[in-house]
Amino acid sequence: MKTETTIQGLSASLNPARTARKIIGFVPTMGNLHQGHLNLVREARKICDVVVVSIFVNPIQFGPNEDFDSYPRTLDQDQQLLADVGCDIVFAPSVEQMYAKKPRLTNISVSDITDDLCGLQRPGHFDGVAVVVTKLFNIVQPNYAFFGQKDYQQLAVIRQFVQDLNIPLEVIGVPIARAEDGLALSSRNGYLSAEHRQIAPTIYKSLKAAELELQQGIGLDTVLANIRQTLSAAGFEIDYVEARTPELQKIETFNQDVVLFIAAKIGQTRLIDNLQVKFNP
Ligand code: AMP
Repeated sequence: MKTETTIQGLSASLNPARTARKIIGFVPTMGNLHQGHLNLVREARKICDVVVVSIFVNPIQFGPNEDFDSYPRTLDQDQQLLADVGCDIVFAPSVEQMYAKKPRLTNISVSDITDDLCGLQRPGHFDGVAVVVTKLFNIVQPNYAFFGQKDYQQLAVIRQFVQDLNIPLEVIGVPIARAEDGLALSSRNGYLSAEHRQIAPTIYKSLKAAELELQQGIGLDTVLANIRQTLSAAGFEIDYVEARTPELQKIETFNQDVVLFIAAKIGQTRLIDNLQVKFNP
């Protein structure tokens, strides 16, 4: 496995694969890797000849009061994990490499589906994601790009601009990887105190309870209210608890598949999760 830190170096490493028309798979990450990230790499390994993983903590997707400076950076450990799952090339550029000195005047903004959920709480966040992912797509030029369903709205935004801008690659969504107690794996879980780590699985438990309630015919509003009640009682500060269609449209009644979304803070740590509930009349 090779690690490249410059765009030029990465191109040189990928050129033989490009010339030989090998299938290139790409997994963008911010590092501090866990099994959720590694599952994306495993999926890429299944269908691609060459697997590239980027590790880049992207400053422009963090708000002014967010955790850009303190975000965990663990490159050596990440490289070891990636070598073990068969990654071919790690791309770990500096901020200077990705954002050259000249000011950036171009933005990529997806409307509608970003005016909701995390987009309301984190203004500019999805623009920052869209810009960096587009830059990375242009740098790596993969055939397939892999993203986790944990960041459901992010995956929808990426699918949308890839389609809207005719970016020539296929986006593949990968299911959420969870700890044994159900907590969705996240680099931010490392911020949790032992006490908060015990409470954190309440998020997934409340989603599973909601699934059962929906299947029993309890109304969507009541089900969402019950989640809010459970989370508040456990000590969470709720950002949102919402239901949307799989295409992220508003939904009042459980008369088609629904995705339940939670964003909630425990202490200083903001956690997100979601669960799709199938409609089987
Ligand atoms: P991040 O490093 O948090 O930017 O995540 C990089 C990629 O890994 C994104 O596509 C995430 O959706 C995905 N990811 C992060 N956590 C998980 C998880 N628990 N299960 C599946 N995918 C995940």
